[in-house]
Amino acid sequence: MDNPKKFNRRDFFKTAAAGLGGYVMLSPDKAVEPKPNPAKQRKTIYRTLGKTGIKVPVISMGVMNADNPNLVKAALDNGIVHLDTAWNYQRGRNEKIIGSVIKDYSRDSFIIGTKIHDQSRDREKGTFTREATAEKFLEKFDESLNRLGLEYVDILYLHSVWTRQMALYEPFMQALEKLKKEGRTRFVGVSTHWGEPEVIQAAIDSNFYDVVLTSYNFKQDHIKEIQQAVARAAEAGLGIIGMKTFAGGYLDEEKTKPVDPKAAIRFALKDKNVHTIIPGFTTFEQMEIDLSVMEDLSFKEKDSEVLELGCNSRGGVYCQGCQTCVNQCPKHLPIPDLMRAHMYAYAYKNHWAAKDLVSSLNVELGQCDDCTVCTVNCVKGFNIKQKFTEVASLKSVPSRFFV
Ligand code: SF4
Ligand code: SF4
Repeated sequence: MDNPKKFNRRDFFKTAAAGLGGYVMLSPDKAVEPKPNPAKQRKTIYRTLGKTGIKVPVISMGVMNADNPNLVKAALDNGIVHLDTAWNYQRGRNEKIIGSVIKDYSRDSFIIGTKIHDQSRDREKGTFTREATAEKFLEKFDESLNRLGLEYVDILYLHSVWTRQMALYEPFMQALEKLKKEGRTRFVGVSTHWGEPEVIQAAIDSNFYDVVLTSYNFKQDHIKEIQQAVARAAEAGLGIIGMKTFAGGYLDEEKTKPVDPKAAIRFALKDKNVHTIIPGFTTFEQMEIDLSVMEDLSFKEKDSEVLELGCNSRGGVYCQGCQTCVNQCPKHLPIPDLMRAHMYAYAYKNHWAAKDLVSSLNVELGQCDDCTVCTVNCVKGFNIKQKFTEVASLKSVPSRFFV
């Protein structure tokens, strides 16, 4: 178990600040603006990603669910410059796909963000365990660079944390600091799917991180707290990247009411402190729709209506990770993670991601069978017992059945 008290944060930050001046000074060849490849004339709106100084289009690409290199190429050829991936996406294939595309582009024409995820965590305490070492982190990053075929990435994140202790976990911060000093990442960030305000505040207080990647969407009951944290972070110079913009893509559990993507994007980007978002389009048509929002970013009254803002915050396929349910379950199942896996499988149809996430949770199948009645009352109205039973069964499905 990590012991945050053992970590002398002040000393660490002093070292980081002295060595890096708050953030790394780039060698001239790397301190360049990305130059997009505009195959098409279209309106592109840029925002500056905080103290990184990178001017990035407000629409980026979350590559997580895409497995078509031609789509990644089309994104770059249509003005997108920032591609977001992770070490664990598609078990490494995602980074390889990106690598196969970007080898034909000049290094100053794109921005790559990748993330390192470590499963060695105590989910109830919200801490990393002793098995979460800097060595493992560095090994994974070497793999990422090899797959991408790059000498350096632009943003490297500590992936998917939800507490202050996790965001400030000393071994990973030291690994990030080392990679930044070596020039193998230009900037460092932290990503969060829930507990966003706490993680964002930790990132501000650290004076270490350059970028925060945070869930940000119209379905979050705590969106005001996130907006306030994001405003403080932007004021402190952090770059803010929004994800989960479509809240799973459906307004109802039956998936009969798709989220209007333009309205959802406008909701996120009406906040000027959100510098770019990473929608995970998987088709050329979806890409066109997402990019077309830049023709008119203004959030409209009808957007509120189609997003059902203020009248129905229940339903849909998106768990906002509020943790309200966790202590209601006598077995303390990791419900928010299970719900995220359910969204990956059911809404994204990304069964690999769902299975990997479920497998990482060390949850036995049949956990809910002992309960005649589920005592969990989800604030969004999800039937947790049903969702758990559906998603947990993925564990036993051989991977060869997934396409
Ligand atoms: S399952 Fe429901 S109560 Fe639990 S974290 Fe998700 S939204 Fe909150
Ligand atoms: S049925 Fe509900 S209370 Fe029982 S283990 Fe499952 S989630 Fe927990």
